[in-house]
Amino acid sequence: MSTLEGILRKRKLGFYLKWAFLALAGLIFIFTLLICYPQVYYFADKVSYKNFQVYYDKKIPKEIYSILDTVHQLIQKSDCYDPRLKFKIFLRSDANKYTIFPGQFPDKSIGWTIGGIKNVFLHKSDCATNTAYNHLGHTRTLSSVLAHELIHVLIENKWFLKSKMAYFDKNSLSSFGALWKEEGYAEYIAGDLPITLEEGLKILNGEIPPKYVPHFQYFKYWLAVHYLVEEKHMSFEAILHDNLNLEDVLREAKLAQ
Ligand SMILES: [Zn+2]
Repeated sequence: MSTLEGILRKRKLGFYLKWAFLALAGLIFIFTLLICYPQVYYFADKVSYKNFQVYYDKKIPKEIYSILDTVHQLIQKSDCYDPRLKFKIFLRSDANKYTIFPGQFPDKSIGWTIGGIKNVFLHKSDCATNTAYNHLGHTRTLSSVLAHELIHVLIENKWFLKSKMAYFDKNSLSSFGALWKEEGYAEYIAGDLPITLEEGLKILNGEIPPKYVPHFQYFKYWLAVHYLVEEKHMSFEAILHDNLNLEDVLREAKLAQ
């Protein structure tokens, strides 16, 4: 009798464990689906144009087409442009919307690209005026911020391993925590920097303090890559593979100005 009870108890436990496992696997599957395809559960409108798919939290104004034309022109100049690649861009006009899931809209930066999935999210955008905003209200043209983010997608697409290995290379990582070569190249292609060359050089020379440190850090990456491409005629691939130290390059770049 006790043996039979034991067998029944074991079967019952096996039954519950099986269903608990299936429920957990189902939840993980749904969560992964929502992280990879946020368009299935939010966004009010979508535009497909050239290689871009743009999702927005309200009706997308016609100005988006000229913005995407500009983005296309900018990224075509890069060493890593791939006409076969499709881009998924997620925008919102209201920064209080779509905050349920982690790893989607950025809180602290104006935009970011989710590695591996290649989804591009911007903090807050106005498609009618070609404006992107960060959490402090600093603005920049939406077209340049999109070009910057799409360069990350293109770099990952062309040099996946090398670009990821840069996180383990102290010469590629800046003291600010960003990969200066990749960020600098994204800024070089995007243009429309928040800091002018004159202001950036003054900060670099210690003549004035930076108004917003992240903007100055990104100016340094831009200046270094701009110098390497324009003056030293290096491709991004050569920059990525060369053992370059940011401070050394900046010293040379300053002298070249
Ligand atoms: Zn970036």
